[in-house]
Amino acid sequence: MAEKETLAPNFIEAAIKEDLKNGKYTTGIHTRFPPEPNGYLHIGHAKSICLNFGIAQHFDGKCNLRFDDTNPTKEDVEYVDSIQEDVKWLGFTWDDRKFYASNYFPKLYEFAVELIKRGLAFVDDLSADEIREYRGTLTEPGKESPCRNRSVEENLNLFTRMKNGEFKDGEHVLRAKIDMASPNINMRDPVIYRIAHASHHRTGDEWCIYPMYDFAHPLSDAIEGITHSICTLEFEDHRPLYDWILDSLGFDVNTRPRQIEFARLNLTNTVTSKRKLRQLVEGGYVSGWDDPRMPTISGFRRRGYTPASIRDFCERIGVAKSNSLVDSSMLEHCVREDLNKNADRVMAVLDPIKVIITNYPEGKTEYVLADNNPMRDGKRYVPFTRELYIEREDFAENPPKKFFRLKPDGEVRLKHAYIIKCEEVIKDADGNVTELHCTYDPESKEGGATANRKVKGTLHWVSVPTALKCEVRLYDYLINTDENGNVPDDFIASLNPNSLKVLSNAFIEPSVALAAQGMHYQFLRKGYFCVDKDSTPEHLVFNEVVGLRDTWAKVQNK
Ligand code: ATP
Ligand code: MG
Repeated sequence: MAEKETLAPNFIEAAIKEDLKNGKYTTGIHTRFPPEPNGYLHIGHAKSICLNFGIAQHFDGKCNLRFDDTNPTKEDVEYVDSIQEDVKWLGFTWDDRKFYASNYFPKLYEFAVELIKRGLAFVDDLSADEIREYRGTLTEPGKESPCRNRSVEENLNLFTRMKNGEFKDGEHVLRAKIDMASPNINMRDPVIYRIAHASHHRTGDEWCIYPMYDFAHPLSDAIEGITHSICTLEFEDHRPLYDWILDSLGFDVNTRPRQIEFARLNLTNTVTSKRKLRQLVEGGYVSGWDDPRMPTISGFRRRGYTPASIRDFCERIGVAKSNSLVDSSMLEHCVREDLNKNADRVMAVLDPIKVIITNYPEGKTEYVLADNNPMRDGKRYVPFTRELYIEREDFAENPPKKFFRLKPDGEVRLKHAYIIKCEEVIKDADGNVTELHCTYDPESKEGGATANRKVKGTLHWVSVPTALKCEVRLYDYLINTDENGNVPDDFIASLNPNSLKVLSNAFIEPSVALAAQGMHYQFLRKGYFCVDKDSTPEHLVFNEVVGLRDTWAKVQNK
C-alpha cells in the first residue's frame, strides 16, 4: 500500500505501520471521526478531525464521518448539520461515507441478543444506585448481581420485553457478564443497554432501548470496517472492554478494529468541552455557538481564523500520549502567519481625530498608489484629500520620550503619501482635541524632490470625504484565567467583562466597499480583521481576528 511522507511521523502512524508490517489490515487503512451531535465542534475536535482524516490521507485510506447518536435526549439535527459544515470547512471530505450509529440499532440489538445466547450478557433488575453500590471501588472488588445467573431463555425473554416497551426507564438494564473482581472497573459487568422512553432525532419512537457508548462504539467501528479507532486518553481504561466485545462476538483479531488513544488538546484561556460551551450559549453569555469569542470551529470561522491556519496548528502540536496544555498564542501565531501572506493590507482608523492640511487645495482629490501586500503583486489607489482622519492615539500634545508619532511642531509621514507637520492643535470648550491643523510637504511623495527625506514616524490615515464609516469589534479572551492560562472550575464567575469592545465610529478606505463576509484584511499597524456576517454594504462590520504582535514567536526566540 502506498504511504506518503507528508505528515510529521507520530506514534499512531508508527503503530499502523507496524500493523501493516505484520500483515494486518491488508485491504487498507480506515479511520473515522465520531462526534456525538450534542453540540458544536470545538478546537479539540479539529485536532481529532485532522488526525483521523490526515492518517487516512497519509496511508491512502479512508475516513468516515460517523454521528455517534446513541443518546436521544441530548442530540439534535442542528448539531448534525453544523458538524458537517465544520468538517467540510476544515477541508476534509467523507465522500459518501456519512454514517449514524442509530442506523445500526437493529444490528446492535442482534449483537446483544447474540451475547445473551453465548451466556455473556444478562438482564439486571438492580437500580442504578444499587449497580453503583455493587460495583466496588478501585481497591475493593465488586459484588455479583443476584440476576447474574439468569437462564439464557429468561434473559432473551426479558430483553425482548425491554425492547417492546413493557418496562419503565431504569427498571431493567442489559449488562455484559465479565468479571466483578476485575481490577478494571469498566470490566465489572458494564451496562450495555438501557431503557429510555425518549424520541430520537432520527429513529423517532422506534426504539425505547438504547445501546451504551462502550457497546455501540466498537461494533459501529467493526460494522464499518474501521481498522484504527483513534480516541482520546480517557478511553484507555475502556480498551479492554472494546476488545472484549469484539472478541466475544467472534470478530477476527487480524482484521477487527484496534483502538489507539492520544492526548486531548487543552488550550490556555479556553474551555474545550461541549457541556461548558453549551452553558455559555444557553446562559446568554455569548451571542451563540458561533460567537467570535467561542473556541468552536464556527466561532473561529466567524472570527476570521482560516482552515489552513487551524490545520497548520493541529500539525504543529503533534500527537502525544500524555495530556498537556498548549498555549493559545501558538494558534494565534498560525493564524497570523497565514493572514500575513494572504490578507490584503488596507488603512482603517479605529478611533479618529481629524487632520486638516491647511496648504492642500480644497476640493482636490488625488490618488496615491499602495501595495495590497508586499509579498504579492497587486496595487490599488487610495484617495488623499485636505481633510483626513488619523488615529487619536497617534497624536500626543505632551508626548513621552521617544514618541515618534505626531506632536505639536512634529513631522510624520502619512503612509503611501506625504510628510505632514502639526502646526496647530484645535480644542473644544472642555479642552478635548478636536482637530489638528497641519501643513504638508508637496515634494515628499514618491517621485518628489524630498521623497527620501527621513522622518521618524509613519502613520496610517483615511480621507474624510471618501472614508466609509464602519463598526469594528475588538476581542479579548472570554474567560479570565490564572497566570498559566488555566481556566478555573467556576469559569462562569470568571468571565471577562471586557471580552468584547465595539467601536462604532471607525473609518476605512473606500477600496473595501464591496468586501464580502469572511474577507480578511490587515489594517495597517492595527492587526488582522475579517468582515463579519452582520456586515452589509450600508453598514460594514469587522471582527478583530488577531493582533499584529506575535507573543508566541517572541517566546520561541527567547
Ligand atoms: P466534549 O467533552 O467536548 O463533549 P467529547 O469527547 O464528548 O467532547 P465527541 O463528540 O464524543 O466529544 O468527540 C468526537 C471525537 O473528538 C472523539 O473521538 C473525541 O475523542 C475527540 N475529541 C473531543 N475533544 C477533544 C479534544 N479536546 N482533543 C482531541 N480530541 C477530542
Ligand atoms: Mg463524548
